[in-house]
Amino acid sequence: MYLSRYLLPIAREAPREAEIVSHQLMLRSGMIRQQAAGIYSWLPLGLKVLRRIERIVREEQDRAGAIEILMPTIQSADLWRESGRYDAYGKEMLRIEDRHEREMLFGPTNEEMVTDIFRTYVKSYKDLPLNLYHVQWKFRDEVRPRFGVMRSREFLMKDAYSFDLDQAGARHSYNRMFVAYLRTFARLGLKAIPMRADTGPIGGDLSHEFIILASTGESEVFCHKDFLEMTTPPADVDFDDAGVLQAIVNDWTGRYAATSEMHDTAAFAALPEAEQVSARGIEVGHIFYFGTKYSAAMGARVMGPDGHEHEVHMGSYGIGPSRLVAALIEASHDEAGIVWPDAVAPFDVAILNLRSGDAGTDAACRDLYGACARAGLDPLYDDRDERAGAKFATADLIGVPWQVIVGPKGLAEGKVELKRRASGERVSLTPDEALRRVSAL
Ligand code: ATP
Ligand code: MG
Repeated sequence: MYLSRYLLPIAREAPREAEIVSHQLMLRSGMIRQQAAGIYSWLPLGLKVLRRIERIVREEQDRAGAIEILMPTIQSADLWRESGRYDAYGKEMLRIEDRHEREMLFGPTNEEMVTDIFRTYVKSYKDLPLNLYHVQWKFRDEVRPRFGVMRSREFLMKDAYSFDLDQAGARHSYNRMFVAYLRTFARLGLKAIPMRADTGPIGGDLSHEFIILASTGESEVFCHKDFLEMTTPPADVDFDDAGVLQAIVNDWTGRYAATSEMHDTAAFAALPEAEQVSARGIEVGHIFYFGTKYSAAMGARVMGPDGHEHEVHMGSYGIGPSRLVAALIEASHDEAGIVWPDAVAPFDVAILNLRSGDAGTDAACRDLYGACARAGLDPLYDDRDERAGAKFATADLIGVPWQVIVGPKGLAEGKVELKRRASGERVSLTPDEALRRVSAL
């Protein structure tokens, strides 16, 4: 992309209502525009990051055996009456009436709808296990939308729903998602810690929130220091092997980790002080087994091997890709701006032309741009007629992992400068060497 042809509305300062650094940086770097309280447009740069996150989320869902569908944003109130949640959900649900005075709603979640799909098509245990997911906008009329896309009213969610014949099967499905989440967050460059969450009336130990540590997080969290060093399950883990998955989950749930709601002061205090971490955290994912709550209410039954009908055991598994954009910035920024992890950066490399209009630098930049694109990289070329200082500031602010700085002085010796955004390290190289370095990652 040539910056002169792009829409990148950089602002020198963030508006005062932006309280946390991710919100400030997303506004300053022109990633989002607020349209109403808690409702945002995604501008080109923001959308690119969101899409890269979604892609990793999808790859790991698919790897774990979940199947993608797409359910609508607008739902009928009738379905929610079947589960009893139409009245129970309260003011977070945005209720809508259509022209025929039918009651509709903007979905805050999809348990009812996916249960309806399941009961329509699946009748036998032979079709289980099944896990259906989608990536769709949700609306929750939060009392206090704040911190930009961190807690918005309209937000993107990946929500998956598992169906099993019995509780043992449901646990395997739960563990698949547990491991998929560990891999997803690690690939995003985040350390997410699974923390035991409240299961409400269902009971049991099958609910975890995945929390990343950040000083601006809304939750107070407590955990064992080992979590900061644990190794992520490999890509070739066998998701069909219940024993292997259970061992991974046991390992990741064997140490103390809890949000304030589930905190056990005595158990935490029993850890040696050097092993205690108490911090603030952001919830980026939540997985939950809820048994037959919806299948019983909505008649989702399958024929079992015993010749009897069984209500299916279900779980739901949510990740917030739009919240993750903000969470990633909270976890990775400095005074100059955002520092994107390579895996989610909006562009792979920024090419800064220090003298736009000079035939030699223009040609060198265009050559490099073409070579990057041919190497499968996504380059951003700052070809604007701007001072060098403004170009450096923009590239640092938007956090592209690599910058190639091209000026007439260096070119006279056949060299460009390659800068790594995260470390600030700069080296002088030939354009070919710079390209090889960038594409090596
Ligand atoms: P919270 O406690 O933060 O309100 P929740 O428990 O209501 O979250 P879930 O219903 O489990 O969240 O939703 C799954 C995921 O969707 C969350 O882990 C989070 O990443 C995301 N999410 C939930 N609410 C919002 C919101 N208002 N804005 C952005 N993302 C959200
Ligand atoms: Mg909520």
